[in-house]
Amino acid sequence: MEAIYLDHSATTPVDKRVIKEMLPFFDEKYGNPSSIHLFGREVKTAIEEAREKIAEVINAEPSEIFFTSGGTESDNLAITGTALSMKEKGDHIITSTAEHHAVLDTARFLQKNGFKVTYVPVNKYGIVELEDIKEALTPRTILISIMHINNEVGSINPISEIGEFARENNVLFHTDAVQSFGKEPIDVKKDNIDLLSLSSHKIYGPKGAGALYIKRGVSPEKIIHGGSQEGNRRGGTENVPGIIGLRKAAEICLEEMENERKYLNKLRDYFWEKLQENIPDIYLNGHPKIRLPGILNVSFPGTDSETVLISLDLKGIAASGGSACTSGSIEPSHVLKAMGVSPEIAQSAIRFSLGRENNKEQIDYTVKNLKEIIDYIRKI
Ligand SMILES: *Cc1c(COP(=O)(O)O)cnc(C)c1O
Repeated sequence: MEAIYLDHSATTPVDKRVIKEMLPFFDEKYGNPSSIHLFGREVKTAIEEAREKIAEVINAEPSEIFFTSGGTESDNLAITGTALSMKEKGDHIITSTAEHHAVLDTARFLQKNGFKVTYVPVNKYGIVELEDIKEALTPRTILISIMHINNEVGSINPISEIGEFARENNVLFHTDAVQSFGKEPIDVKKDNIDLLSLSSHKIYGPKGAGALYIKRGVSPEKIIHGGSQEGNRRGGTENVPGIIGLRKAAEICLEEMENERKYLNKLRDYFWEKLQENIPDIYLNGHPKIRLPGILNVSFPGTDSETVLISLDLKGIAASGGSACTSGSIEPSHVLKAMGVSPEIAQSAIRFSLGRENNKEQIDYTVKNLKEIIDYIRKI
């Protein structure tokens, strides 16, 4: 059996249709979109079409989409940029303990520079509760940053409620939607979202491309200085092939969203059923219903995730212990810790994240090997 990739929340293979769209932008259409000659103009047009497509996916206006190098940069621009531009109004930011490090570490950086941050907890399912945000609000709060879907357990936050609350209180709302963009319906207007981060390589697009949606009237301070590209919000020549790839990846996601959701829901349920049938005493992390179709985070008490992952890897099966950034270290996941699970559950958690090229046969092979691995580790 060929190697099996069950780590789509870390990154995805680039869809062949995406690569095909990108290729001409390396050697035929290589102009700089800021150039006013025909080479530049043709590329500029392609970038504006990409902006329209990204906007369509989240019900934004094309002029509200700003291309970046990916989710991390978008999070940095949204949070640091807002903090700098709003510092006359206030110095307090609300986020959660279960955010991605691109948000958490940006918040810590701002704390070192005089801003105040409240990290609201999550419940046992990894979901932020509006009550906690209400409690954290102060007259000096300028920004609430809460992710849409958690990358480790797949739980979905109530961003619509949070957005409404932020709007009522005249506070900006940013959401890291890297795991949900193109996979779950998002409507920035309906959900009162002011800033939204997205990334290309989590949706079968190339690495190093992403975007930040910035609602009209909101003006985060620039953090990458240089030229006046991207409406003077982000200096630097655009990653043209990356942007074209992101556009095609988003277009495919938009067209196939419903089918893909159904397919991945079924495949994940099948996976979970087979695991329960074959391996006793296992535990599902995250919410059983309010979650992204593709993520299955399971703990196998009596084992440790590192040993299980290495054993799986030897069988050609790729999964992870949490986020890609924390795997390889023996630190248990900060998300599971934030959910308050026991150390035994946290230390034995494996995140499987499924994608469009996975099938039942691969799941059967994975369960069979996992059963042998878990039985063996539990015996010794
Ligand atoms: C992957 C990921 C990021 C980082 O995106 P990059 O494009 O890799 O910089 C940020 N937030 C979440 C939730 C992610 O899953």
